[in-house]
Amino acid sequence: MADGVAKRRVVIVGAGVAGLSTAFLIREKIREIGSNVDMVILEAKPYAGGSTRTDLVNGYTCEWGPNGFLDNEPLTLRLIKMLGMEDRLIRANEASSRRFIYHNGKMREIALNPVKFIKSDIVSLPIKLRMALEYFIPARKNGDDETVYEFGRRRLGAGFAKYLLDPMVSGIFAGNTKELSLKAVFPKMVEMEKKYGGLFKAMFARQKETRKNGKKQGGPAGPGGTLHTFKYGMGELTETLAEKLKTDLRLSSPVKSVVKEDGKFTVITENDKIKADYLVLACPSYETSRMIRDIDKKVAGYLDEIEFAPVDVVCHGFKSENVGRSVDGFGVLVPRSEGIRSLGTLWSDSIFPGQAPDGYHLFRTILGGACDPEIVNLEDDALNDVAKKDLARLIDITNEPYLTKVFRHPKGIAQYTIGHLNKVAATERMERVLPGLCFTGVSYRGVSVNGCIKDAFRVADKFRDLEKSR
Ligand SMILES: Cc1cc2nc3c(=O)[nH]c(=O)nc-3n(C[C@H](O)[C@H](O)[C@H](O)COP(=O)(O)OP(=O)(O)OC[C@H]3O[C@@H](n4cnc5c(N)ncnc54)[C@H](O)[C@@H]3O)c2cc1C
Repeated sequence: MADGVAKRRVVIVGAGVAGLSTAFLIREKIREIGSNVDMVILEAKPYAGGSTRTDLVNGYTCEWGPNGFLDNEPLTLRLIKMLGMEDRLIRANEASSRRFIYHNGKMREIALNPVKFIKSDIVSLPIKLRMALEYFIPARKNGDDETVYEFGRRRLGAGFAKYLLDPMVSGIFAGNTKELSLKAVFPKMVEMEKKYGGLFKAMFARQKETRKNGKKQGGPAGPGGTLHTFKYGMGELTETLAEKLKTDLRLSSPVKSVVKEDGKFTVITENDKIKADYLVLACPSYETSRMIRDIDKKVAGYLDEIEFAPVDVVCHGFKSENVGRSVDGFGVLVPRSEGIRSLGTLWSDSIFPGQAPDGYHLFRTILGGACDPEIVNLEDDALNDVAKKDLARLIDITNEPYLTKVFRHPKGIAQYTIGHLNKVAATERMERVLPGLCFTGVSYRGVSVNGCIKDAFRVADKFRDLEKSR
């Protein structure tokens, strides 16, 4: 539909899963409402995908970053349907519900059932008894934010916080529980305490609901939902998006700054100045901070404060006969007290059979995180040696790997520390003052692929509303 108004333009900065999803959804909105809008996606690197990429090497599926997403976010499933990728989905193996913790020099399974958990040897009896008292701990009345550690210690005890919560949080956020904001990273926990009075009370109430409607909820070892990937790994998602958006995508085009003039944004790259009516900043907040400094120093300052933890991934392929213990499960997490440098190891072909050739296993060892930022100083060979040494201890590796792949993420995962939500609120105020401007991606409302995709829908809806109001 020609609307008799000059053509408008949306510029999207960053072509990770956040920028690509947002671009795809905005393009759908443009089609839906017949807007006269064109699109440019500017990506700094010579490739799209950000950290959501996959290398397929000699029968191994090696993930740069995310190895999957949970099917508990309906908007991710909707995007996959819109992309026509439903038949590409691979569901995690049942066995991957078995998760392990290495505690006191031994691999221990995390029992999902409360009775089995109490009977297990995962932590000492006093720690378990203190955990059981959670049921009787009154809900916190004041609504102030607290750290994830403080919440865990307050409700379930210091032993739980140290030996179980800490490694789980390191495994998901590569974060330091003593700094992360509960409200920002586990809003559901806040809600459970508020609504049901505590975690066990919430769990029992949810089990009741599960029995009623047959829908699976999260247990103590992992968040609700089942992990999924695509036939050729998570990179298939960003590759499909990039392919669909290829006419609008400009690679090797790092954005340097943004200027606001004549009611429009001017996006400045090395070789170009692009006028934009809509500007979606889908790159990491430290980059965005630099770009918007001349428009709003204060918000730029807040964004600059959002820390990112380094995360390195070492993929190893081993012959099954060289692995001394059963690796039937999701993988193992390691508390910091064990003297093992890795945060944990994922057993990739046990989670998604087919990610290693027959007769071989693929392990993804995760290192670094907020508690071990010095990891960035290790050369690849040294990092590989650490990962191999840790694997030998954790799962009795007895030979050299047949495959080694190292992926470095010096600024890997955004850390939502205390005060994070105030920073997000500041970006929301700026979005209101400058309609057409949007901040999205891993830095703001969820560090997961699901979080990024959910926010992409918010941005696309906002675009539609603004377009319609013109
Ligand atoms: C090791 C690791 C494991 C993970 N595992 C999981 C998992 O299992 N499940 C899960 O859900 N999530 C996981 N995550 C998180 C997940 O990777 C992120 O949620 C997601 O990739 C973030 O996407 P994004 O587009 O916001 O950021 P990115 O993927 O970082 O993309 C940002 C893009 O912006 C570009 N850019 C930066 N600066 C500029 C500039 N100046 N101009 C133009 N472009 C620019 C970058 O080059 C990049 O392509 C993991 C992350 C890591 C690092």
